[in-house]
Amino acid sequence: MKFQYLGTAATEGFPAAFCNCESCQKARKDRDTEWRTRSQAIIDDVMLVDFPPESYVHAVRWGVDLSAVRTLLVTHSHTDHFYAQEFVNRGYKFAYGIKSAFLDIYADEEVLSVFAEGTKREMRESVREGIRTHCVEPFGRFVADGYEVLTLPAHHTPNERALLYCIRKDKTILYMNDTGLPEEGLYKFLAENGVVADFVSLDCTFADSREPHSERHMGFREDIQVREKLIQYGVVHTDTKYCVTHFSHNHAPFRERMEMKAREYGFLSAHDGMLLEI
Ligand SMILES: [Zn+2]
Ligand SMILES: [Zn+2]
Ligand SMILES: [Zn+2]
Repeated sequence: MKFQYLGTAATEGFPAAFCNCESCQKARKDRDTEWRTRSQAIIDDVMLVDFPPESYVHAVRWGVDLSAVRTLLVTHSHTDHFYAQEFVNRGYKFAYGIKSAFLDIYADEEVLSVFAEGTKREMRESVREGIRTHCVEPFGRFVADGYEVLTLPAHHTPNERALLYCIRKDKTILYMNDTGLPEEGLYKFLAENGVVADFVSLDCTFADSREPHSERHMGFREDIQVREKLIQYGVVHTDTKYCVTHFSHNHAPFRERMEMKAREYGFLSAHDGMLLEI
């Protein structure tokens, strides 16, 4: 399976939109290496995970044909993960030669209410007909376009049943942001479903910070604990790859620095555009 990170930042981006901290000033000067846009990934060019405001920029920058995408899995409704208004442009006079007649969006009910709100003013009926929405809940299973998808509960926000995803075809991918340390039930569910992941993408918002932080995200310290749990439950194998992503400007997520830190712990560190063959 082909897996590409299109964006690897937390909600504020790196450099952050309104920020002039030392890290952001430095990052601003090096677009090719240091810029991190909001988190999104694409699998086999046909399945997207999340749809941040930069989805358009990701498409033009990394050569993604958004019209060919058949499935979108959304983790939760925070603005860095779901920008509903863009879908208004999927047809009518704004897009010709759309390759996939339908786009299926799988998401929790909060995301679907954001979709309804964000598209109600400008979306043409003919455009709406091409988008099918599916409400999903944690501990579910469905098949989308030949991929088996398991939905897992994120530990992220009390206001919404945010999701993590396990995606299986020839290989198995675990996509785990935004979340703090997951509950035990997540590992049990993976084991019960016979998951043996080949690739695990992990939330690393706090990177190597030693400061106390919120339990809604993770850093290297927690990522190590997650890996231990996955091993304990037998839902990974000895060659499973782990990659950290979703970095905040608060912890100086310069590419070389993150790669060096990640290597110390046996992880890969994501950067925008990073392409992996799983
Ligand atoms: Zn986020
Ligand atoms: Zn900053
Ligand atoms: Zn979030």
